[in-house]
Amino acid sequence: MNYQAVLEDIVTTLRPFLGADGKVASYIPALACIDPKQLGIALHTCNGEEAAAGDSATPFSIQSLSKVFTLTLAMQRLGDALWERIGREPSGSAFNSLVQLENEQGKPRNPFINAGAIAVADRLVSHVQGKGNRGSAKADILALVSSLCGEPIEFDAEVAASEAATGYRNIALANFMKSFGKLDNDVEAVLDTYFHQCAIRMNCQQLARAAGFLCCDGAHPFEQDSEVTNERQTRRINALMLTCGTYDAAGDVAFNIGLPCKSGVGGGIVAVVPDRLTLAVWSPALDATGNSLLGMKALELFVAKTGLSVF
Ligand code: GLU
Repeated sequence: MNYQAVLEDIVTTLRPFLGADGKVASYIPALACIDPKQLGIALHTCNGEEAAAGDSATPFSIQSLSKVFTLTLAMQRLGDALWERIGREPSGSAFNSLVQLENEQGKPRNPFINAGAIAVADRLVSHVQGKGNRGSAKADILALVSSLCGEPIEFDAEVAASEAATGYRNIALANFMKSFGKLDNDVEAVLDTYFHQCAIRMNCQQLARAAGFLCCDGAHPFEQDSEVTNERQTRRINALMLTCGTYDAAGDVAFNIGLPCKSGVGGGIVAVVPDRLTLAVWSPALDATGNSLLGMKALELFVAKTGLSVF
């Protein structure tokens, strides 16, 4: 299949709609000032083929897409013990809901809601302490994504500072879990990790490559004979993306697109066609569910043009 032509066609089809609908995330100035009229798309196949179109080389704030990488790191490090603290059910509530956490004694429903990602960050901080405090969880996260991309990836310091300055709800979630004895580390250290992971900057080409292991049973995107996650772990990450990866729209996304996806409020989406390819799309304007409006349209067009779906 000529993927390059497919991606170019999608960008050409959607370009007239850029800026017409949706709203960029506005909870921090660094995101509120992003030009909504941008659309990038890139893919990385199991055989290492790559294709990209539109604003695919423009870096953006990956926000909740980082939850896929921190989950990967925690699965590598803790194995099944990770699930003692975190569930695997769609939440059916807002991604930053406090109510559910209270009803469920501080155990987050899944690793992709904020509480779940904060609990994952706590596990990563503990891992560093277990190594005699050598390095930091933040450095471990950057090292993973950089190794998956084959180039250095950085935090956006301004976004990280704004996340911390305005993160009242995340601070509340972390304190709530701490009060239930569900965080082992200081709330400040855990949130510093979480706010930084949200502030990672990457472009679509880097993201498609970095998440490339998800389409090929966990094999590293370009290092021969190197495994990021094993087959079972990879299947599980994809299952969580399908059921919990797109806020409260996961049912509609499965219905309309039929691929495991993870979204972020920066307007990025990573989607996986198991055994074939990983896609990354980005367009900053969000729909009412918090997912990228044109990003989802781009994925719908991609599955319609290629016939690729897990169903
Ligand atoms: N920084 C955002 C938060 O923690 C990330 C939200 C998202 O992308 O879903 O609320």
